[in-house]
Amino acid sequence: MNEKDEPLIVTDEQKQALEHEIRTLPLIKDVGVADVSSYKQIPGGSTPYEFLHDAKTALVYVAKTEDVLHTYGKWYVVSLNHFLKQTNDRIITVLKRHGLHGRGVIDEGTKGDLIGKISFRQLAVLAGLGTIGKNTCLLHPVYGPKVVIGVVLTNSQIQNDDPLDTELCLDCALCLRKCLTGAIRNDCFDRYVCKNRRKLLGKGCGTPCIDLCPVGSSGKI
Ligand code: SF4
Ligand code: SF4
Repeated sequence: MNEKDEPLIVTDEQKQALEHEIRTLPLIKDVGVADVSSYKQIPGGSTPYEFLHDAKTALVYVAKTEDVLHTYGKWYVVSLNHFLKQTNDRIITVLKRHGLHGRGVIDEGTKGDLIGKISFRQLAVLAGLGTIGKNTCLLHPVYGPKVVIGVVLTNSQIQNDDPLDTELCLDCALCLRKCLTGAIRNDCFDRYVCKNRRKLLGKGCGTPCIDLCPVGSSGKI
């Protein structure tokens, strides 16, 4: 189908086939479907419609961060973007085989700010892939916060998955206590402090907020 056509309605059977094919792509560990109309614009951010004007659903996928760094190189941003571009293209090819149109989202972020234009984490939560922890990361039930998230928008009607009904954050406050800059507080996260951690500490922080989080890593979940 082309972009001018009316959105296609994807049957449950087609959805299962699509998800199965996406799950078998390199490094992908999980995939879910989010209803784009449920997305809440973040302050100063944009909406998925900026990336695909008639977007209906978002295919949201996760991969383990360590797998991405191992495969694409240790420089996080370069590695991440390379992975996302390649994986988005692979998903778009899968969609094409099913007669569907997709647009991968590579969010370069808002100029001069530290946030992306759209929140992949929010879309991942809407797609039932996890919940947001005190460390502000997506917590996946199996892989915890050590995941990267990718998004491909479609203008097809695919039945969305439900957000998880269980909070995964254990409220152990380890992330809060071990963060040396104080960027994580009980009621908020100071992304500017976190971003400037190297300047503030004179070295990297070792990301204990992610590495020590027990969700998904200790078999407790
Ligand atoms: S990355 Fe480091 S500075 Fe930022 S919240 Fe985590 S522990 Fe704190
Ligand atoms: S370290 Fe504890 S409080 Fe922080 S996100 Fe993980 S489970 Fe939640």
